[in-house]
Amino acid sequence: MADIARKEIVNRLIGILGANAVVTEEYALKESSRDRYRKYEQVMGVYTQPIPAAVVYVTNSAEVSKVLAFANSNHINVVPRTGQSAIEGGLETALPDSIVIDGSRMNKVLKIDPYNMQVTCQCGVPLQKIEDTLREQGLTTGHSPQSKPLAQIGGLVATRSIGQFSTLYGGIEDMIAGMEAVFPNGAVCRIKNIPRRAAGPDIRHIVCGNEGAICFITEVTLKLFKYRPEHAIFIGYAIDDMKEGFECLREVMAEGYKPSIARLYDEQDAQGSFGHFLPEGACILIWMTEGPVGVAQATDAGIKAIMTKHPRAKPVDSKYLSAWYQHLNWGTEQIAKERAEIFATKNIGITTEVSGCWDCIYDIYKTSCERIVQEIPDITMIGGHSSHSYINGTNMYFVYYYNVVDCAPQEEINKYHNPINRIICEQTLKYGGSIVHHHGLGKARARYVREEYGSSFYMLETLKKAFDPESVMNMGTLIPLKQ
Ligand SMILES: Cc1cc2nc3c(=O)[nH]c(=O)nc-3n(C[C@H](O)[C@H](O)[C@H](O)COP(=O)(O)OP(=O)(O)OC[C@H]3O[C@@H](n4cnc5c(N)ncnc54)[C@H](O)[C@@H]3O)c2cc1C
Repeated sequence: MADIARKEIVNRLIGILGANAVVTEEYALKESSRDRYRKYEQVMGVYTQPIPAAVVYVTNSAEVSKVLAFANSNHINVVPRTGQSAIEGGLETALPDSIVIDGSRMNKVLKIDPYNMQVTCQCGVPLQKIEDTLREQGLTTGHSPQSKPLAQIGGLVATRSIGQFSTLYGGIEDMIAGMEAVFPNGAVCRIKNIPRRAAGPDIRHIVCGNEGAICFITEVTLKLFKYRPEHAIFIGYAIDDMKEGFECLREVMAEGYKPSIARLYDEQDAQGSFGHFLPEGACILIWMTEGPVGVAQATDAGIKAIMTKHPRAKPVDSKYLSAWYQHLNWGTEQIAKERAEIFATKNIGITTEVSGCWDCIYDIYKTSCERIVQEIPDITMIGGHSSHSYINGTNMYFVYYYNVVDCAPQEEINKYHNPINRIICEQTLKYGGSIVHHHGLGKARARYVREEYGSSFYMLETLKKAFDPESVMNMGTLIPLKQ
């Protein structure tokens, strides 16, 4: 609990930032108490989390430092945010009288450096904005999550996000050259921009993935790549089953090819985007190759050579894939449409993403789907896809829909969403995978953090205690409130 009353918290914040930067309007506060983890509550207009004392808009690192130092010395929970596209409860204000620190006004692109192939942005720069600017100059960060129209640089780094072209460019952790972050005692720390370092542990990874539970990210420098969409080649195959599909993905990766997109959709998940041309019951494999023209063509030829060893796989016309590719991302329009559909039908779709090595990913996929069908009521669809592959394994992105039947809006999460998450986490842990591939632990999966980390939980817990000794940074995220 905070040391001072809600009213005093607000007055002190106005003293630090000025009245224009401090929001206390009731609806704005209520909407700032949660994220899309409570999608059904959002749709039904129900609020179950403690309402924050204020949302504050910061414009520079000095302001972030002052607000954090104030919260730290008065034991006030703070929840950092930028684009607000979180889906795992990272934005929930789990304790009463929290302060939400919004970095979206820190929205300047500070430097595009095409010689050193780096771009420096403040935390509130929308990814769409920087990508549009870079692409006009023939450059790209290579980062393209489905939430590109919504997410901003601070949140993308804080969640260890990943984009659709990750198999070539990597996750955000592979793209960061350096950054600046502010810690709860007010310390402003800059990690300089360099290609590599071996001066001790890589401290970028204390910041990247901290989910607002260790520090506030104010500035990030990302690496740049040449943008060459004209060289892109789509490859697709209809395939009978997921086991063979995973094997095809594995062979391409193990041979050392680096397509930008590498995806495998099961029969159920394929229906949505590919059902109009796929044979009944088929799964679909998709690759996209890009880069300098010779590299794109060689990667294309290499993948096709591997696929000759899988005669049951039938090539798909690439025109379908380029059409699908044009509509991958989600902005505010799609979110509004989805909300209206959920409200009208009481049928809701959720996703949970995990990862595993090649020798266990099929078992994670198959047994999770089987258990969900057996154990959870009112399921209308369960399936998923693999969308990010590595030399040693891949991810599984479960997609599931259910009808919300005979329960109040605030009960939906415990009747359906959390039990499904629990099954997926249990099966993933049983077979040795990771329960979170890219959305972050948030508050949704923080309850499994000890099992996820095993003996290395000691390191995470020590990190949290060392940098946040007063327990004010986004409490309940990464590590649950009650253990
Ligand atoms: C439709 C949709 C599609 C998505 N697709 C993808 C995808 O393809 N890949 C993917 O990785 N994710 C995806 N996501 C999840 C989400 O977009 C990512 O987690 C994204 O990185 C969040 O960025 P944001 O700016 O919206 O952060 P927010 O939602 O504002 O915050 C996310 C988390 O980061 C913390 N945080 C935010 N800003 C800061 C900061 N400056 N300093 C410290 N902590 C901070 C918050 O406390 C919170 O825990 C998707 C979400 C949606 C709604």
